[in-house]
Amino acid sequence: MAASDSIAKTYYLETFGCQMNVHDSEKVRGTLAARGYSQVEDPEAAGLVLYNTCSIRDKAEQKVLQRVATFKYQPNGRKFGILGCVAQHNGEALFESAPHVNLVCGSASYNQLPHLLERLENGENRVTGLSLDTDETFDQPQVERSSPHSAYITIIEGCDKNCSYCVVPFTRGPERSRSSESVMEEARRIAANGTGEITLLGQTVNSYRDPSGAGWSFARLLDEVGRVDGVRRVRFTTSHPRDFTPDIVEAIDGNPALCDWVHLPVQSGSSRVLAGMRRTYTRDEYLRVIEAIKAAKRDIVLSTDIIVGFPGETQRDFEETLSLVEQVDYAQMFSFKYSPRRGTDSVEMADPVPEAEKSRRLQVLQELQRRLQLRRNQSWIGRDDEVLVEGRREKFDQWHGHTAQNRVLNFSDPLGVAGASDLRGAYCKVRITAAGPNSLIGELVSIERKPSAALGLRVLQ
Ligand code: SF4
Repeated sequence: MAASDSIAKTYYLETFGCQMNVHDSEKVRGTLAARGYSQVEDPEAAGLVLYNTCSIRDKAEQKVLQRVATFKYQPNGRKFGILGCVAQHNGEALFESAPHVNLVCGSASYNQLPHLLERLENGENRVTGLSLDTDETFDQPQVERSSPHSAYITIIEGCDKNCSYCVVPFTRGPERSRSSESVMEEARRIAANGTGEITLLGQTVNSYRDPSGAGWSFARLLDEVGRVDGVRRVRFTTSHPRDFTPDIVEAIDGNPALCDWVHLPVQSGSSRVLAGMRRTYTRDEYLRVIEAIKAAKRDIVLSTDIIVGFPGETQRDFEETLSLVEQVDYAQMFSFKYSPRRGTDSVEMADPVPEAEKSRRLQVLQELQRRLQLRRNQSWIGRDDEVLVEGRREKFDQWHGHTAQNRVLNFSDPLGVAGASDLRGAYCKVRITAAGPNSLIGELVSIERKPSAALGLRVLQ
């Protein structure tokens, strides 16, 4: 690399988008570390500036492209790379729109990164990794994880569902699952290092099909990961309603390590809109899956994704979404205005909903969800819940983390149960004393499990 010696092997990496991207960035960081790069927090101090991007909505893509355009200067031969979905979606055209870009690499080609970096280091100015036909993305030997207490494992890449509005099948390629043996090996390694929480990842995680002779179902894999010595919590995301089979509910019921939280995107409450979206289920079919989850012995909470203003969505369709949301009573919702994406089929659909109407519907929906969340969270006041402690806010003298049901919980320690211990990574029992729509507040009752000996329970400085 031609950059000055002080910055040549430093990199700055910014991540946009979903948990899949967050975990992809952990793999990229591992690859860079193995090549002798060290991370810096300031892009201007980096020899290599990387953006790991998201193109799920036009706004997200524009934000990235704008960021790329404004970061033009390349003193000392600084290199610039775009990774992830925007890279895959735009390909080599990025070199034209942003001539200062040197590397364009989609997520399905991260296994080629060492080779691509080597070419950059040897002075090549434009290198690409845009192949979608690889199935080697799982064999990433280096992963530099962000948290010692919580880890992601990708079990399935890509998506075959082909929803009419979505770019993921183009940016991440076809569905390909990782062998159960390889997943278990990584889960055991993570747990042996002291990490107690594992999240199994996939764009459609429950569409998992074990390619090995073992032929494990997704439910079996989930259960087995939950039985690994040292694993206290297993999450999984994102599930597709069509593949949400009863054995998944049975697995959650039969294994307390599996979190009692399911993220099940519905996208719309109208069967007519769902057909236009090509979601492959009707409102009634979705509600039958919800019924099966609610019939579980454990109190499994639900969260979802919703798009408002899909082409042709009428007020009546929208009201069906509102009634479904009330009926299911989600603990959490991610809601968005429909955003047409280049290359998808829905771009061609007639009868677009005016922008102002989309905004109005989004506001109505979010207000409803806010009320439901507040009611649900307030029902927790006076009860105890377990939280995995992720950090501390000195300003408020509070710790914070997530419960197994994925609620954000902030808590204090008025009785001094923890003394001067750093609780990060501990599982604590907390009594809930107050609740807002987005989080709970409580007081520490006891420390249920300290961070593993491998990580240690430190004393606050
Ligand atoms: S299931 Fe549909 S929305 Fe989800 S990633 Fe696949 S194509 Fe996109």
